[in-house]
Amino acid sequence: MSFEAALVESAHHAACRHLLAHLRRGERQEDLCFALWRPSYGASRTTALISELILPEQGERTLHGGASFAPEYLSRSVRLACARGAGLAFLHSHPTDGWQPMSRTDVTAERDRIGGPARATGLPLVGLTLGTDKAWSARFWRWDGQGFERTWCDKVRVVGHRLAVTYHAEQMPPSQRRPTLRRTTDTWGSARQSDLARLRFGVVGVGSVGCMVAEALARIGVEHVVLVDADRVKIHNLDRLLYASEADVGRLKVELAADALRRSATAARLQVDAIPGWIQQEGCYRAALDCDVLFSCVDRPLPKDLLNHIAYAHCIPVVFGGVFVDTKRDGTLGQAAWSVVRSGPGRRCLRCDGQYTTSDVVLERDGSLDDPSYVARLAGGRPTNQNVFPFSANLASLMTLEMLRMVIGASWWPEPGGKLHYSFVPGTLHAVGELCRDHCEVAARTALGDQVAYPFLAAGPGQSDGSPPSSVGLRLLARLNRLAHRFVGGRSS
Ligand SMILES: [Zn+2]
Ligand SMILES: [Zn+2]
Repeated sequence: MSFEAALVESAHHAACRHLLAHLRRGERQEDLCFALWRPSYGASRTTALISELILPEQGERTLHGGASFAPEYLSRSVRLACARGAGLAFLHSHPTDGWQPMSRTDVTAERDRIGGPARATGLPLVGLTLGTDKAWSARFWRWDGQGFERTWCDKVRVVGHRLAVTYHAEQMPPSQRRPTLRRTTDTWGSARQSDLARLRFGVVGVGSVGCMVAEALARIGVEHVVLVDADRVKIHNLDRLLYASEADVGRLKVELAADALRRSATAARLQVDAIPGWIQQEGCYRAALDCDVLFSCVDRPLPKDLLNHIAYAHCIPVVFGGVFVDTKRDGTLGQAAWSVVRSGPGRRCLRCDGQYTTSDVVLERDGSLDDPSYVARLAGGRPTNQNVFPFSANLASLMTLEMLRMVIGASWWPEPGGKLHYSFVPGTLHAVGELCRDHCEVAARTALGDQVAYPFLAAGPGQSDGSPPSSVGLRLLARLNRLAHRFVGGRSS
């Protein structure tokens, strides 16, 4: 199990304002505050999601070059964490750049003074240090029965309009410059390339669009890709599915793609996890929670809704892509259009964008989506099967570019927009920047992690055949699985 921390961009900005105020004025004065965190349990990673700061009130902390807190500030923060069912995080600043080591005073403060009281929350204390360059470093303090054991995080992510990451240099060493990536690295520089390469990308739906997104990731030198799809190659996929030939009919799409990606890889080592299953199955869902960026290349409402949930509750940006093709009654093409929406904290969610409604999700869960009389009621229109290779190629490219602007963007670049919409007729690309509607339920789950359960999860590590799982029995099993997971998670504190 690896550990990480993630901050919502708004909390990051507030923390920088508070913790770096003196340092910005040229004084070598550190500062501190507490915050709440919620766990996100992936298959192999636990992330502390931080969205709420508890800023000190008058007299709750003193500044003397270093900074110290009054016992009342600690006890107020612990009480608040317990009341909200959250964990406690301790944040402080250092007058230097980059990932920060801990001084003896830091260790004493976190392990000996805060760790004990923080056990009341039932979750480990998470300590974070902020450098002058706004880079975070973080660690978990877990109780092993006798004392607190420190585990460093692999990286810390700040998630919002941009995805800014600080890596632990020993646990996640920077990637070396390679001849296979010379032109790519020269395009945006070694530092950006190294940031990009070490992210874990998930591609959900490995059809025509998903395969091309994954191919682009392998070519630009990423080191870890997770593929999720339960489908097998069919004869009618061959006009659109990259890598597939007649000999591949019947093969799992994830296996076909994984083999091809290992050949296309330009990184020294590309790890591809091929997961044959539906994203709404517990095993696939937890594998998605291990990723830093997800690509949604699925057209059904339920997986879209689940990924939209992940984007907010678990602070993992999701790049959604969808194609709409309108073939007229006489068999000629009326319109084709595709759009890219990038959802996540501080951005417009897919549901507010009108790409599906909650009733679409319920229809799919009940199995009504395949009944033509229900299909007519779908808000986003029926998921059509018509599509051609160049439509998918353009969409896959736009989706990858949307991810790149989020990851490699410089601070002076304008903020990445909300949605890209391409109309084949007449051939125009629009960018629309909008936020969620007021009182959006999905956005309200931001950074709540596993504190909110997704209602339509099914049990199982993933299945390769048959139709998507949806029965009540499976949902009940999923609920039991979640309870078991929570118990295991809680015990580690
Ligand atoms: Zn310190
Ligand atoms: Zn919304």
